[in-house]
Amino acid sequence: MTTEDARQLILMLIQDLRPEVHDDAKLIELNFGCPLADSDHWDVWRVHAHVGHEPNAICLCHDFEGLPDPCKIGILLHEYGHLFGGNSDAEADLWVEEELGIDLDYVETLQWVHPDELR
Ligand SMILES: [Zn+2]
Ligand SMILES: [Zn+2]
Repeated sequence: MTTEDARQLILMLIQDLRPEVHDDAKLIELNFGCPLADSDHWDVWRVHAHVGHEPNAICLCHDFEGLPDPCKIGILLHEYGHLFGGNSDAEADLWVEEELGIDLDYVETLQWVHPDELR
């Protein structure tokens, strides 16, 4: 699964469950290879993404594309959680849990959601 596939899967889920935020979610683009995301990732391995840096974008480090599918989906869901739920990690995970009905697992400190959980 490419990162773009993971994004499309999440957007379909949001369209089904939270149509009122789908237009906003669809505008959010993926900013691959953000230099800040790369340097954060080199400093702290588990950090692969952030929001609030470029307008309407989730920034991703270069290594993101090599992550397993459940990590791609889990991390992206968490970042959408930040955009729509709040700045803290707890608020982000709570948004995903309450608005999309998905519990984010953590495997080796990375967010983890199996693709089947989205269908
Ligand atoms: Zn960035
Ligand atoms: Zn976070």
